Amino acid sequence: MDERSALRRLAAALPAAGDDAAVVDGLVVTTDMLHEATDFPAGTTRYTAGWRSVGASLSDVAAMGADATAAVAAYAAPSLVEEELDAFVEGAVDVCDAVGAEYVGGDLDTGTEFTVASTALGETDAPVRRSGAEPGNVVCVTGTVGRTAAALRAFEADDVDRGNDLFRFPPRVAAGQALAPHATAMMDSSDGLARSLHQLAEASEVGFDVSWDRIPVHDAVEEYATDAADRKRMATGVGEDFELVCALPRASLGDARAASPVPLSAIGTVTEASEGVRMDGEPLADEGYTHE
Ligand SMILES: [Mg+2]
Repeated sequence: MDERSALRRLAAALPAAGDDAAVVDGLVVTTDMLHEATDFPAGTTRYTAGWRSVGASLSDVAAMGADATAAVAAYAAPSLVEEELDAFVEGAVDVCDAVGAEYVGGDLDTGTEFTVASTALGETDAPVRRSGAEPGNVVCVTGTVGRTAAALRAFEADDVDRGNDLFRFPPRVAAGQALAPHATAMMDSSDGLARSLHQLAEASEVGFDVSWDRIPVHDAVEEYATDAADRKRMATGVGEDFELVCALPRASLGDARAASPVPLSAIGTVTEASEGVRMDGEPLADEGYTHE
C-alpha cells in the first residue's frame, strides 16, 4: 500500500480525517512525520529541518484558514547531539515566530534514522475545507510554485546554502486567514500543484482548467530547469511547496487579492467533474509527492 492508499483507508475509518487538518469544536489539529531518507536531503541542516517539519504542520493549519496557535515536535536521531538539538529547536521556534504561533515543546528519542513528527494546533470558527469548490469559481495559488523542486536541485548540486534557504518556506498562515472568508475550498500544495488540484477536484467533485502561463513559478526554477518540459514538471509535479491552492467566486477575486498579504495568482477556472483536471486544455497528470 502506498501513502495515498493508506491515508484513504484511514479517512474511511475516521470521519474527521481526510482534510489538511481535523477541526474539533473550533480547534484545528494536524500532525506530520518527516524523515531523513525521503524528506531531508544530504546537507539539510538541523535548523532547516526544525523549520521545515514544524512549518509543514503550520501549513496544514493555514490550509484550513485558521489561526496557528502552537506546535510541538518529537525528534529521533541515531545520537542526540547538543548542537543539532539546539539548532533544530531554534528552527522550530523561528518558524512558529514567523506565523505568530508558539513552539511549546516535544519529545526525544534515539533511532536508526533522523525522524521528526510534528503537531500543530490552530483555531477557527469557519474552517475552509477541500470540498466546496463550484464550477465557475476561479482557482488561485499564493506565492510561487517550484521552490522545493529547485531546493532539491540545489542540494544535488552541493549548493547546500541555497538548498537550505529554499527549504525554509514561509507557512501561509496569514494568507489562509485572509482568504478564508472568500474561499469555497482550500488546501496546501504539500504534494505539488498538480496533485493538489486532483485532490481538490476529488473532494469537491469538480474539474479544473488551469493555464500554464498564469502559474507563478519561483525564480530558482529557472536557474535549475534543464528545458521547458523540466521547468513545467518542477513547477507543477514535484511538490512540497506549501503554498495555498484555493477556489473562490470570481466576484470575490479583487477582495481576496486585496486582503492577501502575499501575491495571489488566478491560474484557471473550476469546471464540471466530467472535464477532469486540465492544463491548457490537456489532461494534467496526477503527479506529485507520494511516500512509497
Ligand atoms: Mg496539506
